[in-house]
Amino acid sequence: MILYHKVRAVERVFRQLEKEVATFQQATNLSCLSGCGKCCRKPDIFATPLEFLPLAYHLFKANEAQAWYDKLKEETDGLCPAFAPFLKPGAGGFCNAYGNRGLICRIFGFSAVLDKLGNPRLATCRTIKEEKPLEVTRATEHIRSGGAVPLTRDYYFQLLAIDEKLAGRHLPIREAIREALEAVLAYYAYRRPRKTI
Ligand code: SF4
Ligand code: SF4
Repeated sequence: MILYHKVRAVERVFRQLEKEVATFQQATNLSCLSGCGKCCRKPDIFATPLEFLPLAYHLFKANEAQAWYDKLKEETDGLCPAFAPFLKPGAGGFCNAYGNRGLICRIFGFSAVLDKLGNPRLATCRTIKEEKPLEVTRATEHIRSGGAVPLTRDYYFQLLAIDEKLAGRHLPIREAIREALEAVLAYYAYRRPRKTI
């Protein structure tokens, strides 16, 4: 599969996830706290390079890929490079790459993982658990009674089917984005990108 088709395939997975998350949220009222962004502040977010291939591709089309790549190579640790905190400390955060954020950013908080017996269990953040206990109880019941919920495992399997190499390793988010940029920059080093974005 050529790189452009991989980007589109990942975007299709994201669109499907968006619908599943919306259905789950409608059924349970589970949602983020307004202006929170705490999960983006975590220094230990892990992701696969493939889930950031659309971001890398769109940065490349905007002539920003090399600058992002150089910066990520210079600074190996720190927060996600797309995270742009509010000026007021503690007020939350913004994502500078919201439309092209990764799978982990889309699924975190509103999905289920399988327990040892293979039963789906709600996987959400501490903030939601503490601030929205009623919605968490409703979501837990919804899942227990067989209601629809995005399964994290299924989405990572879908990414693996698109590109085993780029989706086969979970790396610190900065490394994952750097590898995605590396893949796009290497691919287009001797090729012209498509005109369509
Ligand atoms: S998932 Fe949790 S920590 Fe992240 S923005 Fe939503 S409420 Fe905040
Ligand atoms: S890409 Fe955006 S949503 Fe994902 S961790 Fe970075 S700042 Fe947060």
